[in-house]
Amino acid sequence: MKEFIDSHCHIFNIVDIPLYETIQGKVNFNTFSKLFLGTAVPLTGGLYAASKMKEIEKKKDFIKFFERSLEDSIFKFEKHLLELTGDNTDILITPLIIDFDYVKEDEDNFSNLEAQTKRLLNAINKASPELKIKICPFIGFDLRKLILTDGLQQIQNLWATYGFSPKKNTTIKEIKNGSILGIKLYPPMGFNPYPAENKERYLEFYRWCVEKDIPITVHCQEGSYGGSSSKKEIKNFTNPLNWLKLFNDNPDLKNLKINFAHFGGDDGVEDMLDPLKIWVGGIDKNSWTYTIIKLLQKYPNTYSDISAYNYGKDKLNDFSHNLKKVIELDYKGKFKEGEFKLKDKLLWGSDVPMVLSDDSYKGHYKNYFNKFEKVVKSANISDPDKKEFLENLITNNPKEFLNLK
Ligand SMILES: [Zn+2]
Repeated sequence: MKEFIDSHCHIFNIVDIPLYETIQGKVNFNTFSKLFLGTAVPLTGGLYAASKMKEIEKKKDFIKFFERSLEDSIFKFEKHLLELTGDNTDILITPLIIDFDYVKEDEDNFSNLEAQTKRLLNAINKASPELKIKICPFIGFDLRKLILTDGLQQIQNLWATYGFSPKKNTTIKEIKNGSILGIKLYPPMGFNPYPAENKERYLEFYRWCVEKDIPITVHCQEGSYGGSSSKKEIKNFTNPLNWLKLFNDNPDLKNLKINFAHFGGDDGVEDMLDPLKIWVGGIDKNSWTYTIIKLLQKYPNTYSDISAYNYGKDKLNDFSHNLKKVIELDYKGKFKEGEFKLKDKLLWGSDVPMVLSDDSYKGHYKNYFNKFEKVVKSANISDPDKKEFLENLITNNPKEFLNLK
């Protein structure tokens, strides 16, 4: 491969994460909940119970990632990527920063959004002279801030300071390390991206993103929770129907550039493929993944990354066949919600470090990517189509999304 882009990963460490809140279950998103709910209880009892030690041992790679300095993580990540691609590939990763300001542990500003952003940029800058890959983050933003008098100004100032809009024809080779290419939204932390109240404030933000052509990546998977909101609220905040409504209600936003991260999750894909629903072609149109497909097919600048997808180690945990099925349905033209095809809208993403201790990762990025590659190669489509699908996900589609040539 000539170019390789991972559109969804994270580079942060223990300094950036509200750890104690996390342990208390206030921010128990994704792997965190699995990890800390497994260990948090014994922390008060016998932490060293053998079964728990085993649990910790299993999560070792994941925990270690948070103990490492950002620079160490950068070089380790780079090493893994180069071992996958070899030396002749232009590699770009876009680590997503999450705005934790609303779950801050205390009043100091040590871990606020801007401090977190600066720490990452400093680490990238320091590593830069030796780096062979390009690292261009997305800055996080908690949309609740839009209600503040200077809310929109806050993100606009951050963007003016750290943001970077590539000029036409900028290539991966040319882009400067540490350029912030987009904005990451994490609704489960406690906000509806298109609320009934203060709607106009939110619309102003989206119109600004369209005007500046700023790509947004929004978390969009049912199984992940966060914030201090109730389970029901979190589900409502994260539901892709919010975005369908936003697009339906506001034709002026039809060109909004947005990536619905995780494609609804492997459970969303599982929900969508329902062999019992024979009369509708085995597709459950009420599933989250299908809602995302509607968005992808109808609107020109919508994308969806398949990061954190569980390829599993055995038949029982193996969602690979579902993804394979989606590819086949796409190439057969079975999704009929609009003019666009999924092959032109899906993005490769890993969600490192969240997958570091997963069975399908097996300690190495290469293993995780190979699982995905195997899915594509096993699909019942032509060889040129397989090649096209892979190239689109790792190169062509993310370049369109990120405004790169
Ligand atoms: Zn993520």
